[in-house]
Order: sequence, then structure tokens, then C-alpha cells
Amino acid sequence: MNEELETLNIGIVGHIDHGKTTLLHKLSGKWTDTHSQELKRGITLKLGYADITIYKDKEHYNKEKGVPVLHVSFVDSPGHEMLMATMLSGAAIIDAAILVIAANEGIKPQTREHLIALQAKKVKHLIVAQNKIDLVTLEQSKKNYAEIKQLLKGRYDQAPIIPVSAQQEVNIEEIYKAIAEIPIPSRNKTGAPLFIVARSFDINKPGITPKQLHGAVLGGTLKQGTLKVSDEIEIKPGRVIKESNQYYYKTIKTKIISLFNGSRKVEQLSPGGSMSIETELDMALGKSDGFAGCIASKPGALPEITSNIKIKFTLFAEVFGISNVAKVEPLKVSEMLMLSINTSMTVGVAKKIKGNETELSLKIPIVPQRGENVGIARNINNHWRLIGYGEII
Ligand code: GDP
Ligand code: MG
Repeated sequence: MNEELETLNIGIVGHIDHGKTTLLHKLSGKWTDTHSQELKRGITLKLGYADITIYKDKEHYNKEKGVPVLHVSFVDSPGHEMLMATMLSGAAIIDAAILVIAANEGIKPQTREHLIALQAKKVKHLIVAQNKIDLVTLEQSKKNYAEIKQLLKGRYDQAPIIPVSAQQEVNIEEIYKAIAEIPIPSRNKTGAPLFIVARSFDINKPGITPKQLHGAVLGGTLKQGTLKVSDEIEIKPGRVIKESNQYYYKTIKTKIISLFNGSRKVEQLSPGGSMSIETELDMALGKSDGFAGCIASKPGALPEITSNIKIKFTLFAEVFGISNVAKVEPLKVSEMLMLSINTSMTVGVAKKIKGNETELSLKIPIVPQRGENVGIARNINNHWRLIGYGEII
């Protein structure tokens, strides 16, 4: 891998069965559905990850030959409506997204819902892959193209719409080309490090000797600053502790043992890419995403965690994600909302509402960073539906 190249984080989103995992397989050579449940059911349940380098050979883009132009770190998300929270936490760690729309089925509830989620999470760049063109006539594909154009209007007017067949490997190069044309966001390397944790795990294989044991691993992305091996870090909100029926969060301090950018072991991390940090913590603490939703930084650099926040919000005109589109009703005092902040999800109750500002009391505390973006979901007929977005003030 070329150290000088920039890395873009790209999310793959869209309705279930429209071909997200297949497209990512063709782009990266890796199947991201690897958990046993996913293989059995043929659907993506967790976020899937794959890293590639894009090369340019004369005028052609590919993943094998020519001059390396860009590293890309892909995140595959589930397109099932029950897994919207997973998609939202994925959206917190990406710079750009590929929205997959199957031309034979057209725009479906999660197509719209994912699109507005990208907007709510302030993802700037979008590429639309109009997939399964092998299943439609030219007429149908033109009609579908016009519908997609209409959907993007006022949201992502500049987004290229690329007809592909992921399964038949038609036009995959055009996707590489569109990715290579996305401007690299400016990365702040100098501020205090902000590592957004999307998952955490235990990487030890059964039968390992105590000497070979690895500590708990945090997976996510560094949004700002740099981190290097042997740095001390602090993880917030940290671990949940239960004491005489009371829950509270305990900040965790630890040291960095090793660092990975994608699967490459490195001495230092700077923003861009999907990364992991091996810590000195007991491997058991990292199990089953125990630290997902946390932020890691230099000790003392993060604000105190809080269960009370004030946000400035904007509601969408309509609720998407359901077959018949409905109007979004105003927020009500005492109503329960689901908030997506960075990779964390927390339930909040609106205590006060004044104009487009509200004060909320949260069930799970967060690290309150002013200006941080908040996705707002409401429970409608037993589903959390994204109804707007906001910003911590
Ligand atoms: P996901 O739920 O969006 O990740 O969709 P998958 O990638 O799992 O694909 C769902 C189904 O559509 C699978 O059976 C794929 O083989 C099929 N599929 C994906 N892309 C294409 C395509 O371009 N053409 C056709 N005919 N089938 C496709
Ligand atoms: Mg999938």
C-alpha cells in the first residue's frame, strides 16, 4: 500500500436486495456478508467492511494495474427497515456514499429513507448505482433514470447516476472513476484526536497461549488529529456499571498497543479510512461491540459526558421509509425520540421545545460536542422513522 495516498470512506446504502453486497463484492473482491446468520439468511445484518486501492492505467480505472490513485474503505450497510440504526451509525463514519437502486424495482421505502439519512448525517458526496440493468429494457431503464433524477432534486443534484449490472460486471469501471473524482475532504490532523468507535471486538482465536493474548480492539474512524502506538487514550462514555439497580458510565483509560489502517499494521493513524486500535484492555471488554458508540481521545481532551442536551433541529416535510408517505407532525413535549449522534444511538425525551430548539433528557449519556450533528427518529407504528436532524448547541 502506498502511504502517500489519501483514503476515502464510502458507505453502500439502499433498499434490501437491490445489490449492495454484490456490488461491493465486485468492487473489492470481498464478500462482506460473513457472519453465519447473514450467510444463512442472505441479508446483511451488521456493517461490513472492505478496503481497496484504485489504480489508473492510461484512461482506465481498476483495482489491479497502473498507478495507484486512491485508497477506499467501504462500509456495507443493511437495507432492512429494522436495521436503520445500524445504517445511521455507518453514515457517521463515511465521507461519501453509493446509493444502489435496482432498475427493475425502482425507488423503494429504504431507498428514500437512506437518502434522507445521508442528508441528515451531512454526507456530502453521492454516487447512484442504477443496478440490475440486465433485467430491464432500455425504455424501463430510462424511466427509472428519470425517477432517480427527480428523487435527487434539491438534495444531491450533482450526483452521477451510473447504470450497472453488479452481477454481470457491467460498467463497474465507471463506479471506480466516479469514486476517484470525489474531492478528498479536508482532514484536520492537528486538533485533539477524535476516534469514533463503530464496533469493538475480541480478536483472540481459541487455544491461544496467555503470552499471545491480544487486548480489546476498537474499530472505527479517526475524525480528527493523530494517534500513535503507546499513546494513552480515554474512552467515553466508556463502560456501563450497574450498582444497586443504578446504571452509570465509567470513563476508561488505556494505552494503544497496535494500530491498523484497514488490515495494514501502522505506527500512526491520521484521518481517512476505517481503522482499528488494539488496547491494553481485557479482551472480554471488547466483545460484542461493547464500546460501539464511544469516542476515544487523549486523556482530558473530551468534554464531560451528559444526559441533557440542547439541539437546534429541522424536521423533514414527510416521513419516508414507509410505503405511503405521511406528513411529519411537530415535536411534542414529553415525547420519546431516538437520536443518532456519531455512531451512538440514544433515546431522549423532549423536556422543553421553543421554536426550532429543544432540550432533551437522554437515557444513554453522550459526549456533547458543540455543532455535532444529530439524526432524529420518532416511533411510528413500532418503527423508528427518521423525521429530521439537528445540531448540538
Ligand atoms: P443487498 O441486500 O442490497 O446487499 O443485495 P444483494 O447484493 O444481497 O443482492 C440481492 C440479490 O440480487 C442476489 O441474489 C444477487 O445475486 C442479485 N443481484 C445483484 N446484482 C444484480 C444484477 O446486477 N443483476 C441481477 N440480475 N441480479 C443481481
Ligand atoms: Mg447486503
